[in-house]
Amino acid sequence: HPIIEAVDLHFSYPDGTRALRGVSFTVQPGEALALVGANGAGKSTLLQHLVGAAFPSRGALHVGGLPVDSGHLPALRKRVGMVFPDPDDQLFMPTVAQDVAFGPRNLGLAPGDVEARVRAALETVDALALAGKPPYRLSSGEKRRVAIATALALEPEILVMDEPTSGLDPRSRRHLAELLKAFGHTMVIATHDLDLVLDLCPRTLVIHEGVLAADGPTRDIFRNE
Ligand code: ADP
Ligand code: ADP
Repeated sequence: HPIIEAVDLHFSYPDGTRALRGVSFTVQPGEALALVGANGAGKSTLLQHLVGAAFPSRGALHVGGLPVDSGHLPALRKRVGMVFPDPDDQLFMPTVAQDVAFGPRNLGLAPGDVEARVRAALETVDALALAGKPPYRLSSGEKRRVAIATALALEPEILVMDEPTSGLDPRSRRHLAELLKAFGHTMVIATHDLDLVLDLCPRTLVIHEGVLAADGPTRDIFRNE
């Protein structure tokens, strides 16, 4: 069964902007998918649908076997983790460990389980040594990895990332790409970073003015790059 299934998805903003105009695709569990397209093409709008921050105006969307609608939000939130383009939007507690603990604690997990999740999530992003630091003291590469850990701590099946390498120097980007390649999660990654796409995502969706212009193997789509 696909873990994501979008059928003729349409979305219009209240001002009438038609941001998605008939988007259909399916994603199998474990796939790493790149979502590329010019600014304003509809990438963020589509990602917001995948995490239940927006609901289709028309068409059908299932994520993790659940229809994306207001009735399924709590269940959806446990299945899908979102990493925002700016880590500063995701990190607001006095220490890294507290930031990563925030989500699991909200799920009502026992303190020992929260601690185990924090440790596991920070280990996964090579950031265990940062646990006691205040987020504002971290480098941009470190902040990015910790922001990903806050999503991982919820143990989502699907990770949705918006521009995960923006603002990183080449070394930090390589470090992050290596870590992401080791993840077993289904990943949908909106990005302008062609190196990341080629390195991490076997499949690419190209979105253009709210319509999927291409969906196929990354090597075919970027054959001439
Ligand atoms: P991308 O992430 O690819 O840059 P977006 O999904 O942000 O594209 O935007 C798709 C379209 O929707 C654009 O035309 C954009 O201007 C418009 N849009 C985005 N957010 C809003 C909003 N809150 N209200 C009205 N139009 C919006
Ligand atoms: P930044 O360059 O922004 O500080 P990095 O993610 O590159 O962010 O590095 C943060 C920390 O991780 C540094 O202490 C660095 O030595 C370490 N580091 C960088 N790359 C690797 C790697 N491939 N494996 C393990 N640790 C690394």
